[in-house]
Amino acid sequence: MAKPPSKKKVKAYVKSGGTVCPSCGADDITGDSWEADAGFATQEVSCSACDFSWKDLYKLVGIEAA
Ligand SMILES: [Zn+2]
Repeated sequence: MAKPPSKKKVKAYVKSGGTVCPSCGADDITGDSWEADAGFATQEVSCSACDFSWKDLYKLVGIEAA
């Protein structure tokens, strides 16, 4: 089992736009299903390299005319 990443690693993960695993740093991560609620959304993500899984948290930042 992979250990949960430190706050510092989570910060770096968010800053990078969520491109590499916050636990082991591999870019072998896969996004799964989305869930949306008023103003925010979550996506399940997991890492194939270390088996760590987590949820990305998103919040509404604006709109774009369709
Ligand atoms: Zn990993």
